[in-house]
Amino acid sequence: MSRPAERRRRDYRRDYRRRRICRYCSDSSLKIDYKNYRLLKYFLTERGRIIPRRISGNCAKHQRELTRAIKRARHVALLPFMTVPK
Ligand SMILES: [Zn+2]
Repeated sequence: MSRPAERRRRDYRRDYRRRRICRYCSDSSLKIDYKNYRLLKYFLTERGRIIPRRISGNCAKHQRELTRAIKRARHVALLPFMTVPK
């Protein structure tokens, strides 16, 4: 049952899980703003998808705000809906 591919995927996920703090809760000077696309970009995958909360470590409240900000940023073309990795 423990094929090598399966194990690799789990290891990869655990590496991401090490950061378990919500960046926005730990740093009150950080504000979720759709105009600050540089910060929002941090929560996007290379394909332009939003990184899920269990990996990014955000709290529910901030993840919700973040998602809204990202969607708004996409709408005004600051962020891509989808990117094709080279
Ligand atoms: Zn938070």
